Amino acid sequence: MSQQADRYSQQNPNPMPARNIPKPPETIEYICGDCGAKTAMKTSELIRCRECGHRVMYKPRTTRIVSLHRAAMD
Ligand SMILES: [Zn+2]
Repeated sequence: MSQQADRYSQQNPNPMPARNIPKPPETIEYICGDCGAKTAMKTSELIRCRECGHRVMYKPRTTRIVSLHRAAMD
């Protein structure tokens, strides 16, 4: 009985084919937290500045809100 079960599982090693991958990831433009360079990258990629290699990147909209807060406190 157990051998039949093994044979069946070997015939179906991939229950989920690669075609089931959803739409490709969205490309978003980030601003480097170190040098300020804009870098467009996919959300699935490792976030990293292509100019200086800094790994802290900000979304342009978020950066705007933060800069307004800091300006008001100064
Ligand atoms: Zn940078």
